[in-house]
Amino acid sequence: MNPAPPLFHVMTKPTGAICNLDCKYCYFLSKEMLYPGSRFRMADELLATYTKQYIDSQKSREVTFAWQGGEPTLMGLDFFERAISYQKQFARPGVKISNSLQTNGTLLDDDWCRFFKKHNFLIGLSIDGPEELHDKYRVNKGGAGSFKQVMRGFDLLKKYHVEFNVLCTVHAGNQDYPLEVYRFFRDELGSDFVQFIPIVERADDHVRSLANVGWSERHGGDRPLYTQAGGLITERSIDSAKYGRFLITIFDEWVRRDVGKMYVQIFDVSLGSWLGQPGGLCIFAPTCGDALALEHNGDLYSCDHYVEPDYLLGNIQEDLMIELVASDQQKQFGRDKQESLPQYCLDCEVRFACHGGCPKNRFISTPNGEEGLNYLCAGYRSFFYHIDRPMKQMAQLLRQRRPAAEIMRITAAEDEAQQQKEFSSTKRNAPCPCGSGKKFKQCHGRKR
Ligand code: SF4
Ligand code: SF4
Repeated sequence: MNPAPPLFHVMTKPTGAICNLDCKYCYFLSKEMLYPGSRFRMADELLATYTKQYIDSQKSREVTFAWQGGEPTLMGLDFFERAISYQKQFARPGVKISNSLQTNGTLLDDDWCRFFKKHNFLIGLSIDGPEELHDKYRVNKGGAGSFKQVMRGFDLLKKYHVEFNVLCTVHAGNQDYPLEVYRFFRDELGSDFVQFIPIVERADDHVRSLANVGWSERHGGDRPLYTQAGGLITERSIDSAKYGRFLITIFDEWVRRDVGKMYVQIFDVSLGSWLGQPGGLCIFAPTCGDALALEHNGDLYSCDHYVEPDYLLGNIQEDLMIELVASDQQKQFGRDKQESLPQYCLDCEVRFACHGGCPKNRFISTPNGEEGLNYLCAGYRSFFYHIDRPMKQMAQLLRQRRPAAEIMRITAAEDEAQQQKEFSSTKRNAPCPCGSGKKFKQCHGRKR
């Protein structure tokens, strides 16, 4: 057997693809088709098997169970009570076990939140921004927006002081409103951890024509299983250049006032890359394959984004999970990320931070016609180039054992110097460079 990775991560889907919402961009709802006739509930015996195998196969002193869906809370509290009791039963001495759970938040109540608090769950809450932006695609089975129900769940998480992160997908509906989205999380929700996930929904002509109806409407129809295929994208998908601008706009605000206070995952992971410590996020790692997905019946897949027949590794009730993780198939899956990079990426100055991004999005051609470039390349490139200077400055601060937050003082001084330079060359009747809309002589030029 190949050596198993010392650390790997499994996203566990106890309800499979079943969810109470019908988010229009969800790549997972159609995975229901893989298991016709299933009840989509992880059996107790499998839960015990999985818990034991997962704990036994991790070599670190910390083991994290990650529950995801579909919507995992549809399993009911009893299921998670049992999960905790199996974790206690199979825990090895000296190993810390923790749990995270990704939810749409709409089914949370006092009992759930008491349970989360008691067992220190880290909750990932899916919100796409303020109400009108969130409700664009995050709808229920009747097509109505889910924002109000999510906020009810959010209030309960706050009430019980449950630790939570915001997971925000970025798509055609909110890509033009970076500051509205970011400030909503920071100022309205008081969240200090945000993760942005770009929506890139691949399609062919057939899927594109069906893409804008909800799953409930599609279900009786002939929408095919969503797989990582097709050279087109749906109109809900993010525009690559706009994704770059979205991140840059938020970064510019963050680097001036929120460093050390707001954790924005892509900024933090990037700082790791500039410090020469990559590996914080699989999409920006040179290889992948250490983040797998477990279906409700024990089927283990190479990745949450590749729950499709070609990437099924086996079933953990028949083969040990550790053997599937260490299998040639999975090793090759991880290496493919690096081995399939086009020359354009190999020559790229920001490859150390990007590594070509996730293979699922590599379906466009490079400027000289080579296939396999990431659809998000334009956005990534502009973002990584833009943050290069402040990232170098923060990395330098950290190497000097000073807080990265000192970048805010440095940036403020640079902004001030830049503005003075602009003022000194502005004519009296020209618009003021501060952006007030007034003439310079009636604004910052008044004294002069
Ligand atoms: S395929 Fe993409 S999401 Fe999956 S492990 Fe690799 S980089 Fe991560
Ligand atoms: S920015 Fe573009 S060219 Fe550079 S590594 Fe990333 S995907 Fe490749």
